[in-house]
Amino acid sequence: MPPAATDDGDRAPASACAALDALYTQIAQRVGAATAARGAWPCAKGCDGCCRRLAALPHVTAAEWQRMAEGLALLPAAEQAAIRQRIDVAARGGAAPPHVVCPFLHDSSGACSIYDHRPAACRMYGFYVARSGNQWCDIVQALDDNGELNGLILGNFDAMARQLQRQFGPTRPINEWLAESAESAHGAVPVKQAIVDEGLA
Ligand code: SF4
Ligand code: SF4
Repeated sequence: MPPAATDDGDRAPASACAALDALYTQIAQRVGAATAARGAWPCAKGCDGCCRRLAALPHVTAAEWQRMAEGLALLPAAEQAAIRQRIDVAARGGAAPPHVVCPFLHDSSGACSIYDHRPAACRMYGFYVARSGNQWCDIVQALDDNGELNGLILGNFDAMARQLQRQFGPTRPINEWLAESAESAHGAVPVKQAIVDEGLA
């Protein structure tokens, strides 16, 4: 399936938004079930280890980016500008290797600036596991190693990632989505739309 079509160049249609909502609800139900079964879970506001140890800038689908952009637009102008600058710096390789700190992380509180608008991977992290067995988070992995997650059914990260791309198209790094949004805001025709208009798609 092609990337989520756009109505006006940078907004996914309502059907894509509803489909993304359905996936986010599905993830929330899995997360809620795991949390309830164990009685507690380490992931909470202020626990930001995963946001500070990204291998690269987040890669998201068009529909996820639209949600993130909506969250970004709700922030005070100065905070928006700071996040845009951090995305730009990270995209230019200015982040200290080997890890990238997510540009959306609020540094002092350790909270996500766009929590309600965060992408799918951030909703799954800690609660979903890759087919390889990788849980990514050392804190959750330690619980598993201690046998504290025995009997819990964790989500399948790989399957959800495939589902996202089937429904919403390929992922791109957030700096590319941000650049495309900026071009669209300044009247430039987004590349995908230009291709469709030329009948080449
Ligand atoms: S995935 Fe790990 S580092 Fe991230 S919030 Fe959960 S416990 Fe904390
Ligand atoms: S978008 Fe939010 S939750 Fe996801 S990595 Fe960035 S700061 Fe963390």
